[in-house]
Amino acid sequence: MTHPETRAVRVHTPALSGSSPMAVPIYQTSTFACDDPDACAGALRHPDHGYAYSRHANPTTRALEQLIADLEGSAASLASSSGMGAINSVLFGLLQPGDHVIAQGRLYGGTHGVLSDLARRFGIELSRMSGTGADELAAVLRPRSKMLYLETIANPTTEVADLPTLLAAGRAAGLVTVVDNTFATPVLCRPHEHGADVVIHSATKYLGGHDDVVAGVAAFADADLHRRVWQFAVNLGAVADPFASWLVLRGIKTLPLRMARHCENAGRLARLLAGHPQANNVRWPGLADHPSHALATRILDGFGGVLCFDHVGGRAAAAKFVARLRQATLAPSLGGPETLVLHPASSSHRELDARELRAAGIGEGTIRVSAGLEHFADLQADFEQALAA
Ligand SMILES: *Cc1c(COP(=O)(O)O)cnc(C)c1O
Repeated sequence: MTHPETRAVRVHTPALSGSSPMAVPIYQTSTFACDDPDACAGALRHPDHGYAYSRHANPTTRALEQLIADLEGSAASLASSSGMGAINSVLFGLLQPGDHVIAQGRLYGGTHGVLSDLARRFGIELSRMSGTGADELAAVLRPRSKMLYLETIANPTTEVADLPTLLAAGRAAGLVTVVDNTFATPVLCRPHEHGADVVIHSATKYLGGHDDVVAGVAAFADADLHRRVWQFAVNLGAVADPFASWLVLRGIKTLPLRMARHCENAGRLARLLAGHPQANNVRWPGLADHPSHALATRILDGFGGVLCFDHVGGRAAAAKFVARLRQATLAPSLGGPETLVLHPASSSHRELDARELRAAGIGEGTIRVSAGLEHFADLQADFEQALAA
């Protein structure tokens, strides 16, 4: 087995007569001329039987799906129009009314929203675990428990899920185990190795990596599971378009290099903030006092590019701090080349009241940082001047 750095640049490209392109061409076509009716029917019925219509399969998107499967160690994967497109394809493709879903308490806001909606309107039962322990999972299991839904690294608190323990317990209970691996990427963690049936990414973040595309992927340990979700995704229509797939393919070639730099800059910012009088409660899994540090050391090949901290001055001071930054930018999203900051209490988590914010580990002065690829000295100078106010 080769290393991620090698697999990231080894993309399957189509053979021409006597040569083949180094980059995957953008097959900007909605439909394909078929050799005969059987070939057409086969391509519409099966994800691996050629091409007939781009909602079902497209060669550029297929190259991305093969690359993701290579990197995650999956049987097959599915590219979608966004991370939420992948998440909805998996949830709607695999769940029936009456099924019970067990979800990690601290989930991406969009996922939290869909699961709540499924529970309210489609007869899905939902339990949220407050922590990440396997004993809590055992306590909420029911006869109709169907799915366990986790995130490798939680947003914005950077708590790491105990994947080996939770996934083993979930599989022992016969659950379909799903892990959103967006924050870790396959460079830092491959959840199939710990027993995940499904691995999801918002490719908008690190995989694409350049703040220029919205896309998602779902990868499957098992080809039958892939086939079921593929059929649903085709009907839902939440598939990736060829240009979006091409941008993600292009991004992934430098993913291992970029992740190394994101992790390095995040660690240096975390240490800078941990020693600064205006910052409290700095959270990054690489810090020795982080609640998940020992676990992260065991299951991650790097501690990630996201950190958060509390401005000691509370909400007003946090707002002033983000306004004073000159290199780092106030913006949602993460995983791009530029360092981005976000004030969760007034943006991504604005719908939570004070008690819910506390439960989510977010304070009035909490700031999330997605460390970019800049020279650290420039980031250091920027954070220091903005904190000195
Ligand atoms: C951004 C994000 C999503 C949603 O992805 P989109 O591409 O914005 O639809 C899902 N999960 C996590 C962890 C994310 O950060």
